[in-house]
Amino acid sequence: MSFYVNQIGDLEYLCADSLNNVLHGFSTRYGGVSTGIWSSLNLGTHRGDDPANVRENYRLFCAALGIEPDSLIFASQIHSDIVAAVDHTNRGEGLDRPVPSHRDAMISNTPGTSLVVFSADCAPVLLYDPDHRAIGAAHSGWRGTAQDIAGKTVLAMVNAYASDPARLQAAIGPCLGPCCFETDADVPQAIAQQLGSAAEEAVEKVGDKYYVNNSLLIRMELERAGLRPECIDISTDCTSCQPERFWSYRRVGQNRGSLAAIIAL
Ligand SMILES: [Zn+2]
Repeated sequence: MSFYVNQIGDLEYLCADSLNNVLHGFSTRYGGVSTGIWSSLNLGTHRGDDPANVRENYRLFCAALGIEPDSLIFASQIHSDIVAAVDHTNRGEGLDRPVPSHRDAMISNTPGTSLVVFSADCAPVLLYDPDHRAIGAAHSGWRGTAQDIAGKTVLAMVNAYASDPARLQAAIGPCLGPCCFETDADVPQAIAQQLGSAAEEAVEKVGDKYYVNNSLLIRMELERAGLRPECIDISTDCTSCQPERFWSYRRVGQNRGSLAAIIAL
Protein backbone atom coordinates (compact mmCIF):
# COMPACT_ATOMS: atom_id res chain seq x y z
CA MET A 1 0.00 0.00 0.00
CA SER A 2 1.24 3.44 -0.81
CA PHE A 3 0.47 6.85 -2.25
CA TYR A 4 0.10 7.28 -5.98
CA VAL A 5 -0.23 10.18 -8.43
CA ASN A 6 -3.33 11.00 -10.46
CA GLN A 7 -2.88 13.17 -13.51
CA ILE A 8 -5.85 14.73 -15.35
CA GLY A 9 -4.58 17.17 -17.93
CA ASP A 10 -2.41 19.64 -16.02
CA LEU A 11 -4.05 18.74 -12.73
CA GLU A 12 -2.01 16.51 -10.45
CA TYR A 13 -3.08 15.18 -7.08
CA LEU A 14 -2.18 12.30 -4.79
CA CYS A 15 -4.28 9.43 -3.50
CA ALA A 16 -3.60 6.63 -1.04
CA ASP A 17 -4.30 2.94 -1.54
CA SER A 18 -5.58 2.78 2.04
CA LEU A 19 -8.46 5.08 1.03
CA ASN A 20 -9.31 3.45 -2.28
CA ASN A 21 -12.91 2.85 -1.22
CA VAL A 22 -13.66 6.50 -0.46
CA LEU A 23 -13.43 9.69 -2.56
CA HIS A 24 -10.33 11.63 -1.54
CA GLY A 25 -7.31 13.53 -2.80
CA PHE A 26 -4.25 15.51 -1.69
CA SER A 27 -3.63 18.52 -3.93
CA THR A 28 -0.34 19.67 -5.43
CA ARG A 29 0.43 23.05 -7.02
CA TYR A 30 -0.28 21.71 -10.50
CA GLY A 31 -3.43 22.25 -12.54
CA GLY A 32 -5.08 25.46 -11.28
CA VAL A 33 -5.73 28.90 -12.76
CA SER A 34 -4.05 31.12 -10.14
CA THR A 35 -0.98 33.11 -11.15
CA GLY A 36 2.08 34.67 -9.52
CA ILE A 37 2.93 33.45 -6.02
CA TRP A 38 -0.33 31.45 -6.02
CA SER A 39 0.44 29.55 -9.23
CA SER A 40 -1.41 27.54 -9.85
CA LEU A 41 -3.73 25.32 -7.80
CA ASN A 42 -4.08 27.54 -4.74
CA LEU A 43 -6.89 26.26 -2.49
CA GLY A 44 -6.45 28.79 0.31
CA THR A 45 -9.19 31.43 0.54
CA HIS A 46 -7.29 33.78 2.88
CA ARG A 47 -3.97 34.04 1.09
CA GLY A 48 -4.58 37.19 -0.98
CA ASP A 49 -5.38 35.34 -4.18
CA ASP A 50 -8.25 36.38 -6.49
CA PRO A 51 -11.37 34.73 -4.99
CA ALA A 52 -12.67 33.90 -8.49
CA ASN A 53 -9.48 31.97 -9.22
CA VAL A 54 -9.66 30.08 -5.91
CA ARG A 55 -13.26 29.14 -6.63
CA GLU A 56 -12.30 27.94 -10.11
CA ASN A 57 -9.45 25.90 -8.59
CA TYR A 58 -11.97 24.21 -6.29
CA ARG A 59 -14.25 23.53 -9.25
CA LEU A 60 -11.37 21.88 -11.11
CA PHE A 61 -10.12 19.84 -8.13
CA CYS A 62 -13.63 18.76 -7.13
CA ALA A 63 -14.42 17.70 -10.72
CA ALA A 64 -11.30 15.54 -10.72
CA LEU A 65 -12.28 13.95 -7.40
CA GLY A 66 -15.90 13.46 -8.45
CA ILE A 67 -17.44 15.58 -5.70
CA GLU A 68 -19.73 18.62 -5.64
CA PRO A 69 -18.14 21.95 -4.60
CA ASP A 70 -21.38 22.63 -2.68
CA SER A 71 -20.52 19.74 -0.36
CA LEU A 72 -17.24 21.24 0.90
CA ILE A 73 -16.77 21.94 4.61
CA PHE A 74 -13.56 23.72 5.59
CA ALA A 75 -11.44 23.46 8.70
CA SER A 76 -10.52 26.74 10.42
CA GLN A 77 -7.06 25.95 11.64
CA ILE A 78 -5.27 27.35 14.68
CA HIS A 79 -2.90 24.44 15.51
CA SER A 80 -5.34 23.27 18.17
CA ASP A 81 -6.72 19.84 19.07
CA ILE A 82 -10.33 20.83 18.34
CA VAL A 83 -12.30 18.10 16.55
CA ALA A 84 -15.76 19.02 15.27
CA ALA A 85 -18.52 16.69 14.08
CA VAL A 86 -20.18 18.14 10.99
CA ASP A 87 -23.14 17.21 8.80
CA HIS A 88 -25.13 18.52 5.83
CA THR A 89 -25.97 21.76 7.68
CA ASN A 90 -22.26 22.66 7.57
CA ARG A 91 -21.99 22.38 3.78
CA GLY A 92 -20.58 25.57 2.28
CA GLU A 93 -18.72 26.65 5.40
CA GLY A 94 -15.43 28.13 4.25
CA LEU A 95 -16.12 28.60 0.55
CA ASP A 96 -19.58 30.21 0.64
CA ARG A 97 -19.67 31.62 4.17
CA PRO A 98 -17.37 31.90 7.17
CA VAL A 99 -16.54 28.90 9.30
CA PRO A 100 -18.42 29.58 12.58
CA SER A 101 -15.72 28.35 14.96
CA HIS A 102 -12.19 27.04 14.91
CA ARG A 103 -11.59 23.38 14.21
CA ASP A 104 -8.36 21.66 13.20
CA ALA A 105 -10.14 18.36 12.59
CA MET A 106 -13.60 17.28 11.49
CA ILE A 107 -15.58 14.05 11.35
CA SER A 108 -18.76 13.16 9.47
CA ASN A 109 -21.01 10.24 8.64
CA THR A 110 -23.40 12.26 6.47
CA PRO A 111 -23.58 11.52 2.72
CA GLY A 112 -22.92 14.62 0.66
CA THR A 113 -20.29 16.07 2.98
CA SER A 114 -16.67 16.69 1.96
CA LEU A 115 -14.09 17.57 4.61
CA VAL A 116 -11.24 19.95 3.71
CA VAL A 117 -8.02 20.51 5.68
CA PHE A 118 -5.22 22.83 4.56
CA SER A 119 -1.46 22.57 4.74
CA ALA A 120 1.87 23.99 3.63
CA ASP A 121 4.28 21.77 5.68
CA CYS A 122 1.83 20.56 8.34
CA ALA A 123 0.53 17.05 7.77
CA PRO A 124 -2.99 16.43 6.46
CA VAL A 125 -4.46 13.22 7.90
CA LEU A 126 -7.51 11.52 6.36
CA LEU A 127 -9.49 8.69 7.99
CA TYR A 128 -12.17 6.31 6.75
CA ASP A 129 -14.44 3.86 8.55
CA PRO A 130 -15.75 1.41 5.92
CA ASP A 131 -18.17 -0.28 8.35
CA HIS A 132 -20.07 2.82 9.39
CA ARG A 133 -19.33 4.93 6.29
CA ALA A 134 -17.74 7.68 8.33
CA ILE A 135 -14.80 9.97 7.55
CA GLY A 136 -12.33 12.18 9.38
CA ALA A 137 -9.79 14.82 8.42
CA ALA A 138 -7.16 16.43 10.64
CA HIS A 139 -4.49 19.13 10.31
CA SER A 140 -1.45 18.05 12.30
CA GLY A 141 1.62 20.22 12.30
CA TRP A 142 3.98 19.63 15.18
CA ARG A 143 1.70 21.58 17.53
CA GLY A 144 -1.23 19.41 16.54
CA THR A 145 0.92 16.31 16.85
CA ALA A 146 2.05 17.43 20.30
CA GLN A 147 -1.66 17.56 21.22
CA ASP A 148 -2.43 14.17 19.61
CA ILE A 149 -5.03 15.59 17.26
CA ALA A 150 -4.82 12.46 15.08
CA GLY A 151 -5.59 10.21 18.04
CA LYS A 152 -8.33 12.54 19.21
CA THR A 153 -9.95 12.45 15.77
CA VAL A 154 -10.01 8.65 15.93
CA LEU A 155 -11.52 8.81 19.41
CA ALA A 156 -14.17 11.24 18.18
CA MET A 157 -15.15 8.74 15.46
CA VAL A 158 -15.31 5.95 18.05
CA ASN A 159 -17.58 8.02 20.27
CA ALA A 160 -19.79 9.50 17.56
CA TYR A 161 -20.11 6.62 15.11
CA ALA A 162 -19.05 3.53 17.09
CA SER A 163 -16.04 3.17 14.82
CA ASP A 164 -13.68 0.30 15.57
CA PRO A 165 -10.14 1.74 15.35
CA ALA A 166 -8.83 -1.61 14.13
CA ARG A 167 -11.05 -1.23 11.08
CA LEU A 168 -10.12 2.36 10.24
CA GLN A 169 -8.11 3.22 7.13
CA ALA A 170 -5.76 6.23 7.25
CA ALA A 171 -3.47 8.30 5.05
CA ILE A 172 -0.90 10.90 6.12
CA GLY A 173 -0.24 13.31 3.25
CA PRO A 174 2.78 15.26 2.05
CA CYS A 175 4.36 17.38 4.79
CA LEU A 176 7.66 18.80 5.95
CA GLY A 177 9.97 15.78 6.05
CA PRO A 178 12.70 14.94 8.57
CA CYS A 179 15.17 16.06 5.88
CA CYS A 180 14.00 19.67 6.34
CA PHE A 181 12.22 19.81 9.72
CA GLU A 182 15.11 21.29 11.70
CA THR A 183 14.15 22.63 15.13
CA ASP A 184 15.43 23.57 18.52
CA ALA A 185 14.73 21.51 21.65
CA ASP A 186 11.27 23.01 22.22
CA VAL A 187 9.58 20.91 19.52
CA PRO A 188 10.88 17.47 20.61
CA GLN A 189 10.18 18.40 24.23
CA ALA A 190 6.55 19.26 23.46
CA ILE A 191 6.11 16.05 21.48
CA ALA A 192 7.76 13.92 24.18
CA GLN A 193 5.16 15.18 26.66
CA GLN A 194 2.53 13.51 24.46
CA LEU A 195 4.31 10.38 23.25
CA GLY A 196 6.97 9.83 25.91
CA SER A 197 10.22 8.07 25.04
CA ALA A 198 8.59 6.51 21.95
CA ALA A 199 8.96 9.90 20.28
CA GLU A 200 12.76 9.55 20.32
CA GLU A 201 12.52 7.18 17.36
CA ALA A 202 11.14 10.03 15.26
CA VAL A 203 13.61 12.72 16.33
CA GLU A 204 17.26 12.83 15.29
CA LYS A 205 19.69 15.07 17.15
CA VAL A 206 22.50 16.61 15.11
CA GLY A 207 24.72 18.99 17.07
CA ASP A 208 22.32 21.23 18.99
CA LYS A 209 19.55 20.91 16.39
CA TYR A 210 16.79 18.33 16.04
CA TYR A 211 15.25 16.78 12.92
CA VAL A 212 11.63 15.78 13.41
CA ASN A 213 9.71 13.11 11.50
CA ASN A 214 6.15 14.39 11.94
CA SER A 215 4.60 11.65 9.76
CA LEU A 216 6.15 8.93 11.90
CA LEU A 217 4.91 10.63 15.07
CA ILE A 218 1.39 10.78 13.66
CA ARG A 219 1.63 7.11 12.69
CA MET A 220 2.54 6.36 16.34
CA GLU A 221 -0.50 8.30 17.52
CA LEU A 222 -2.81 6.48 15.11
CA GLU A 223 -1.42 3.09 16.16
CA ARG A 224 -1.73 4.06 19.82
CA ALA A 225 -5.38 4.90 19.08
CA GLY A 226 -5.86 1.35 17.80
CA LEU A 227 -5.25 1.51 14.04
CA ARG A 228 -3.46 -1.41 12.45
CA PRO A 229 -0.06 -0.53 10.93
CA GLU A 230 -0.99 -2.02 7.56
CA CYS A 231 -4.02 0.31 7.34
CA ILE A 232 -1.93 3.50 7.41
CA ASP A 233 -0.37 4.99 4.26
CA ILE A 234 2.29 7.69 4.57
CA SER A 235 3.36 9.97 1.74
CA THR A 236 7.13 10.07 1.30
CA ASP A 237 6.99 13.54 -0.30
CA CYS A 238 8.57 16.43 1.60
CA THR A 239 6.81 19.74 0.92
CA SER A 240 10.01 21.77 1.32
CA CYS A 241 12.13 19.55 -0.95
CA GLN A 242 9.77 20.03 -3.93
CA PRO A 243 8.89 23.76 -4.02
CA GLU A 244 7.61 23.61 -7.58
CA ARG A 245 5.15 20.86 -6.61
CA PHE A 246 4.03 21.77 -3.08
CA TRP A 247 3.71 24.89 -0.98
CA SER A 248 6.04 25.10 1.97
CA TYR A 249 5.88 27.64 4.78
CA ARG A 250 9.41 26.62 5.77
CA ARG A 251 10.71 27.43 2.30
CA VAL A 252 8.78 30.56 1.25
CA GLY A 253 7.01 31.88 4.35
CA GLN A 254 3.54 33.40 4.03
CA ASN A 255 3.68 34.53 0.38
CA ARG A 256 2.25 31.41 -1.16
CA GLY A 257 -0.87 29.39 -1.80
CA SER A 258 -2.24 26.52 0.23
CA LEU A 259 -2.55 22.80 -0.35
CA ALA A 260 -5.78 21.00 0.54
CA ALA A 261 -6.67 17.44 1.37
CA ILE A 262 -10.28 16.40 0.83
CA ILE A 263 -12.24 13.29 1.82
CA ALA A 264 -15.90 12.90 0.91
CA LEU A 265 -18.98 10.76 1.45
ZN1 LIG B 1 12.82 17.90 2.76
